[in-house]
Amino acid sequence: MSHTAEIIAVGTELLLGNIVNTNAQDISQALSAVGVNVFWHTVVGDNPQRLKEALDVARRRADIIITTGGLGPTYDDLTKQTICESFGKPLVLHQDILDGLKVFFEKNVHMKMPSNNLQQAELPEGCTVFDNPVGTAPGCAFEADGVHVLMLPGPPFEMLTMLKGHVIPYLRGLSSEVIVSHDIMTFGLGESPMEELMREKMSRMENPSLATYAKPSEVRLRATAKAESVEAAEAMLSPVVKDVTDFLGDYVYGVDVASLEDVCFRLLKEKGLTFATAESCTGGRVAERMTALPGVSAVYRGGVVSYWTSVKADVLGVPADILEAHGAVSEETARAMAEGARRVTGADIAVSVTGVAGPDPDERGVAVGIVYIGLATPDGTFCRPLDLGKRRRDRIQDLASNHALDVVRRYLSGLPIELSR
Ligand code: ATP
Repeated sequence: MSHTAEIIAVGTELLLGNIVNTNAQDISQALSAVGVNVFWHTVVGDNPQRLKEALDVARRRADIIITTGGLGPTYDDLTKQTICESFGKPLVLHQDILDGLKVFFEKNVHMKMPSNNLQQAELPEGCTVFDNPVGTAPGCAFEADGVHVLMLPGPPFEMLTMLKGHVIPYLRGLSSEVIVSHDIMTFGLGESPMEELMREKMSRMENPSLATYAKPSEVRLRATAKAESVEAAEAMLSPVVKDVTDFLGDYVYGVDVASLEDVCFRLLKEKGLTFATAESCTGGRVAERMTALPGVSAVYRGGVVSYWTSVKADVLGVPADILEAHGAVSEETARAMAEGARRVTGADIAVSVTGVAGPDPDERGVAVGIVYIGLATPDGTFCRPLDLGKRRRDRIQDLASNHALDVVRRYLSGLPIELSR
């Protein structure tokens, strides 16, 4: 049987626009991966009457209600009490949770547990407890009148830890079917061309199904199978994943991988090569993405944000005659920047980005969206010229940094630097 869920985020801060409801996004993504349909997102303030009204609506239209927030020890944390009243469940003290809380305070906060934290050890009678290894508020789940109610804390890291550790196993336990999916990650084809290319295949598929999710300039294709066991689902998925990856060829940068930079990092490590960057219009975005990866110092030597022409010349050694003859935004400068970054850092390969992010053309009249990616390697220097069109400045910067990483991953995979379609 397929389940229908509603997510209720509790918190006045959300309604005031002080914080973004990222928990709803994370919960929805996790639920869709296990085949639970999320049909509603509700946000309600720290107000018991309005939360009760939201619960009354939710229990009529969903058979899984997941709340997040309002499990803390302060006076406005009323989620648990309100849910228990709505569903006629008494709250009972869990001595083991109380003991755990006391230890948590002594070990992590070096103080005795404040008395108002006592209420965090009270949970609905007969519930399944979701312990919270990274915070104080435990979560829980119970079933009443055919509705599963799950309560999760508000702080995103605590919520996510509980989601992975408890909620997903709990939801999987509600169904005899298992759902397995694989993400085929692509770069270089926009969402519409991808749709067009894949429409026929996608419309023929039900189980496994194939869906596209677009991020700016990247498309993730998710293949999902429902079956009676993980093995059976995997057996259904593997020919589909192979068929799609063969069909899309080198647009696919990985299956079940997190990002382009992750793939670059893995390839650099595998090949024992070091890497550097020289960035102008991306202002260090490529460097930032690389350095967000733990352990990347094994391969990433560093980068130069060479925004001024004088920095391109003085730090990276881009020859003055190239800058004069071709300008800062040109194929020749991109090549010289990459070679300069390779030289000054001593890295095996270096990527460069120079372009016009807008909103105005550069002083030589080069149009917004013109970008050159240079790549200096032991096999020579390459360039990918791009016309990204007149878009928002940050979009051009994101897209250009994606292209830079794509050029690197293509070189490291032995593929042509140029996009083929
Ligand atoms: P605490 O024990 O910290 O009081 P709690 O379960 O009561 O936890 P809240 O007090 O509602 O949670 O929220 C704590 C913090 O978690 C908020 O200030 C906010 O930073 C973050 N948070 C709460 N709800 C959400 C949400 N839906 N999306 C993203 N962040 C959230």
